[in-house]
Amino acid sequence: MSDQHQNLAIIGHVDHGKSTLVGRLLFETGSVPEHVIEQHREEAEEKGKGGFEFAYVMDNLAEERERGVTIDIAHQEFSTDEYEFTIVDCPGHRDFVKNMITGASQADNAVLVVAADDGVAPQTQEHVFLARTLGIGELIVGVNKMDLVDYGETKYKEVKSEVTDLLNQVQFNTDDAEFIPISAFEGDNIAERSENTEWYDGEILIEALNNLPEPEPPTDAPLRLPIQDVYTISGIGTVPVGRIETGIMNIGDNVSFQPSDVGGEVKTIEMHHEEVPKAEPGDNVGFNVRGIGKDDIRRGDVCGPADDPPSVAETFQAQIVVMQHPSVITAGYTPVFHAHTAQVACTIESLDKKMDPSSGEVAEENPDFIQTGDAAVVTVRPQKPLSIEPSSEIPELGSFAVRDMGQTIAAGKVLSVENRE
Ligand code: GDP
Repeated sequence: MSDQHQNLAIIGHVDHGKSTLVGRLLFETGSVPEHVIEQHREEAEEKGKGGFEFAYVMDNLAEERERGVTIDIAHQEFSTDEYEFTIVDCPGHRDFVKNMITGASQADNAVLVVAADDGVAPQTQEHVFLARTLGIGELIVGVNKMDLVDYGETKYKEVKSEVTDLLNQVQFNTDDAEFIPISAFEGDNIAERSENTEWYDGEILIEALNNLPEPEPPTDAPLRLPIQDVYTISGIGTVPVGRIETGIMNIGDNVSFQPSDVGGEVKTIEMHHEEVPKAEPGDNVGFNVRGIGKDDIRRGDVCGPADDPPSVAETFQAQIVVMQHPSVITAGYTPVFHAHTAQVACTIESLDKKMDPSSGEVAEENPDFIQTGDAAVVTVRPQKPLSIEPSSEIPELGSFAVRDMGQTIAAGKVLSVENRE
C-alpha cells in the first residue's frame, strides 16, 4: 500500500463495461469490506449461487444505479502496491465535464474501456477527445469483453489498431498508451495474468496502474486558493474557506484576494478543526486574514501571494469543445462560465478558429458559428471580474465549463489571459 494518490477516470462508450471494470477492481484489490463479503458469501451459499463475491459488488453498484444515485461508480476508492486510486466521475454522468474541469475531480490518468465485440464507438471518440483537451496524462486501454470474442488475438489487434488510429488523430502520444486484453466480467488480465490470452505478454491491468507516472504535486506553483464560502466565527472573525489548488499557505504570508482586490497577513490556518502552521495542495482550509471583513471577499475570489496575485481577466482566449447545444453558437453568445468556485456570465466575443477534432488542425479561421461536436479557439469577455489563469501556467485554475439552460454546453481550457488594468 502507498499513500501516493491518483485520480483515475474510467472512460468509454456506454455498455462497454466501465462499471463492471470498477466493480472488478474494487473486488480484486480487497476494497470491499471483508464482513460485507462474508455476509454475502453465506447468503449465496444458502441459495447455492456461484461467483458470489464479485456478484455482490456488482449488485451493489446496480442497486445504486436503480435508486437513481447520481453517480454509481465515481468516488470509489481502491489501493494497489503503488497508489491509492480514487475513481473520479465518469463521462456520461450528468456533471462529469463540469466536475472534471472545475476542481476536485480532475483526473490524472484514465482507463479507456473499449469492448472487443464493438470496437471504437461514438462515445469512445468523444471521450478520448475530451481527455486530450482537458489534459489527461496517460491512457490505459482495456480491450474488454475478450470472453465474447473467444479471446482471439486477431480481434484484439483489430481493435487495438482502430484505437491507435483514433489516438493518433487527436495527437495523443500512443507510445505511452498501454493496451491490454481484458474481461472485466470474468477477471482476465485484471489482477492475474489470464491463461486465456497466452499470446499476450504485456502488462496486466494492475501492473499498468502501478506503473502510471506519479502525479506531480503542484507545490512549486504560486498559491491559488479559490474561495468556496466566507464565514464569520465568533472569537476569530472572518474565515474564508476553500481548497488549496496549488502552492503553499503559511501563517504570516501576505495574501491577496482577486478580483475583490483586498489583502492582508494570514493570522491563522485551520484544517480538520485544528490549527496548522501551513497548508498544501489538496488541503481544505479555513483561515483568517488581518483586516479582512465578511463583505470584503466572496465565493469565486482566488487567494494568492500578494507579490504574485491571481490574474483577473479583461478577456481571455480559450480552446473549447462544444458538448451539446440545441442550435449554433455565434459571437455575442453570453452563457455562464464555471471556473473553480466562480460563476460568471461571459460573452464569447469572437470565434477565432474552428479545429478539426479528428486531426487537431485548424479547419477554418473566424468561423461564423460553431455547434455540437466542434472544437474551437474563442475570445471571451467576462461580464464581471473573473480570476482565471492560463492553463499552461496553472492548469488547476485554467479550465472551465460553460453552462446554459441547465446543461453543460461546452468545456475548455484557457490559452492566454489579457489582464485587467
Ligand atoms: P458501462 O455502461 O460502460 O458502465 O457498462 P457496464 O459495466 O454496465 O456493462 C454493460 C454490460 O456489459 C453489462 O451487462 C455487463 O455485465 C457486460 N459486461 C461488462 N464487461 C464484460 C465482459 O468483460 N464480458 C462480458 N461478457 N460482458 C461484460
